[in-house]
Amino acid sequence: MKRIAVLTSGGDAPGMNAAIRSVVRVGIYHGLEVIGIRRGYEGLLEGDFVEMTRSSVSDILQRGGTILQTARSPEFQENGGPEKAARILQDRGIDSLIVIGGDGSFKGAKLLNDLGIPTIGVPGTIDNDLGYTDYTIGFYTAIETVMEAVGKLRDTSSSHGRMFVVEVMGRNCGDIALYAGVISGAENVIVPEVDYDMAEICRSVIQGQERGKNHHIILLSEGVTDANAFTKELSECSGYPARLAVIGHLQRGGSPTAFDRLLATQMGAKAVELLIHGKSGVAVGIRGNKLHCMEIDEAIGVRDRLNMNLYELAEILAK
Ligand code: ATP
Repeated sequence: MKRIAVLTSGGDAPGMNAAIRSVVRVGIYHGLEVIGIRRGYEGLLEGDFVEMTRSSVSDILQRGGTILQTARSPEFQENGGPEKAARILQDRGIDSLIVIGGDGSFKGAKLLNDLGIPTIGVPGTIDNDLGYTDYTIGFYTAIETVMEAVGKLRDTSSSHGRMFVVEVMGRNCGDIALYAGVISGAENVIVPEVDYDMAEICRSVIQGQERGKNHHIILLSEGVTDANAFTKELSECSGYPARLAVIGHLQRGGSPTAFDRLLATQMGAKAVELLIHGKSGVAVGIRGNKLHCMEIDEAIGVRDRLNMNLYELAEILAK
């Protein structure tokens, strides 16, 4: 193996740059040529490749986003897309590929691996929705961003005696809402994995008001319901005005936290080492503070379970 390639795909996540840097530098250290593929599978299909050097990844460890850019590529998913991509890689003399992205990107990685391109997956998504790994790259930075935003909203919430519903990302995974809710002391956390009871939420709002509480923050995961409708219903049913704050894409940006830099750096290095040792078709993960790897299709199939202990703790703390 002499020439490896790396791409970032799907939604961008803070720490992707740290992973790219690690892949490039560890690869070069082991005598490999490293090619960067711009804009994920879209750039792969267009042959948008760039030679990576040690200096091309200098000063990026602390930067959010991805210097290789990312994309969602419907064309890659069409009939013949993966075959065309595999041909392009072979024509360019690329022996293997490292894909940094979420579960969709991993499905593409698995197809390429089956087509004879040894491929490794590195989990880069803020959603933390891959059950085979405790954490994905970008998750901790995203919850820190939510924590900061909630801190500011709480100031205005207290000043006006107003309740806020804060919609956060995560698709069908409630981890961003739950973890950010715990670290910012949210009064309620509403996640797709657990049914919510509007009457119960209203009771907690009313009880809080009766105790003289002048702020109330509800973290609502985007995968639960329409946030506008939820906020309106909450105001009507509790009798107290609620405002909606949508944090949106701010959650994707920013300089990665110490944890994400460390995780991305270790995972990028591990991906290169796996290829050097002849392993492919696997995804790198972390379990109990130890890196591990699992077959990509098995990894995609591991259901992401909400940490119920943490959920129950969030409820106890907010009572
Ligand atoms: P995030 O979790 O941040 O959204 P993701 O990797 O899950 O990241 P997707 O948009 O689902 O993001 O997937 C990224 C790209 O991977 C798609 O645009 C497509 O090119 C490819 N992809 C997704 N699903 C498949 C699939 N079933 N088969 C082949 N390729 C796929």
